[in-house]
Amino acid sequence: MLTKEQVLKQYFGYDVFRPLQAEVIDTVLAGKDALVLMPTGGGKSVCYQVPALVLDGLTLVISPLIALMQDQVQGLKANGVSAAFLNSTLNQSEQESVIWKIKLGELKLLYISPERLFSGNFLDWLKGQKISLFAVDESHCISFWGHDFRPEYTQLHRLKEHFPRVPIIALTATADNVTRKDILQQLAIPQARTFLASFDRPNLNLTVLPGRKRMEQMVDFLNAHPGQPGIIYCLSRKTTESVAANLQYMGFNARHYHAGCDALYRNHTQAEFLRDDIQIIVATIAFGMGIDKSNVRWVMHYNLPKNVESFYQEIGRAGRDGLPADTVLFYSYQDVSQQTDMILKSELSQDQKDLLIAKLDRMKQYAQADICRRRILISYFNETVEKDCGNCDVCRNPRTKIDGTVMAQKVLSAIARTQQKVAMGTLIDILRGSRNQNIIRHGYDQLKTFGAGHELRYEEWAEYISQLLNSGIMDIAYDEGHAFKLNAVSQQVLREGKSVSVVKFIPLEERRARAEEE
Ligand code: ADP
Ligand code: ZN
Repeated sequence: MLTKEQVLKQYFGYDVFRPLQAEVIDTVLAGKDALVLMPTGGGKSVCYQVPALVLDGLTLVISPLIALMQDQVQGLKANGVSAAFLNSTLNQSEQESVIWKIKLGELKLLYISPERLFSGNFLDWLKGQKISLFAVDESHCISFWGHDFRPEYTQLHRLKEHFPRVPIIALTATADNVTRKDILQQLAIPQARTFLASFDRPNLNLTVLPGRKRMEQMVDFLNAHPGQPGIIYCLSRKTTESVAANLQYMGFNARHYHAGCDALYRNHTQAEFLRDDIQIIVATIAFGMGIDKSNVRWVMHYNLPKNVESFYQEIGRAGRDGLPADTVLFYSYQDVSQQTDMILKSELSQDQKDLLIAKLDRMKQYAQADICRRRILISYFNETVEKDCGNCDVCRNPRTKIDGTVMAQKVLSAIARTQQKVAMGTLIDILRGSRNQNIIRHGYDQLKTFGAGHELRYEEWAEYISQLLNSGIMDIAYDEGHAFKLNAVSQQVLREGKSVSVVKFIPLEERRARAEEE
């Protein structure tokens, strides 16, 4: 029997284990279950591939990523490991040949989709074979609370029932606390040791920009990063197409990508991006799973992602080579309300809705942070960061706080005088004294607060009102056309003069000028 160090050297050509790999492998070799959280590129595969080669018998790797199985198996074979995969892409005789290899005890690693694993009496049949280990890859898919739920994963509890003595190792690059608990519970491995690798990626520069004039800001950014490969993530397919078309029109080498594009186009586009023939991919979240391109220099989010896990995974595609890379998130109040709407109007149960809203809220906190953004991001994964990172926009440009009490009073009093029926646009029109059709029809131009905030521009009000909302000074009723509502804190501000502070608004032009200086 080879030791784990010998296997690492002989089959993978590496001399030393990365952080946590040796501990994880020892746990599995001792027959114990494990949950491994490592960021993408952290080296999860070695955690089950090495034990597979040390132990006697066959290791099953359960993965939902059918498209990647072939590559993984090819890679292993090239290293002299006897590996195969079983999924719906194989025809009958190919499947039979794999089954034969298992019977003959020739295979060390078998990649299998959950559908195939639970089809027919395969699981019962496996009981007659010598199984050394189960590896559940992308294990966050087991949890409804994860961001990539796969119903076929919910049957995985059967593994422990059928094979109580075979250790299970669950692996994922993305799982918050709730998802982690769920993984352990659903795999019926409550005692499993959890290994949490550091999620910090200090080479990623973090920036949030206001979500207005996105196109202009994007072009500024692209001009400052000529020729550098990058990805722009958008929420909808339509947006990917229009953004890519706009960029092409302006002479940039950009292409859209989403799950609705035909397979040929997708493969082509992906390959061209990998070869650096395309500079910019404008994509939905469909792009990136399993794409190994180390020199992506920047990732931009045109829209606010649904949760921190997705965001982290997407920005994680930049700077895999460890060299500096930029991440830019465009943030607007509209993005939040649109997503909130979608959640509320969905068919989900109240619990599920609450959770998705809470997750969106964490994303919002990141976007609105006036403390080091990396602290917020990393603390989401339950890690603590000892000091400010120095590599995010907040660290580089500390926020200036100003007194916002009078401003808040104007806002709240306008909300009160309109019977708490108005949403953002109308509220700003009232404050700025804009005499448009809508205002006149409702008689809002007769209000005492009409024009009380004419000294601020529309976008300034939009930003300050968002800040007030997010600091809990008022509420919003999404089910009443996003009308603002007063709450207990509003009363304190209005009646008791409770003081309010806000982060000073920086006009776009000024931000640009600063960026150019840097
Ligand atoms: P993950 O599955 O966590 O995204 P991989 O298992 O694909 O990551 O590993 C990422 C890269 O790191 C691969 O190229 C792999 O060969 C390499 N790698 C893994 N472990 C080691 C190690 N101990 N020493 C050097 N390179 C390693
Ligand atoms: Zn920072």
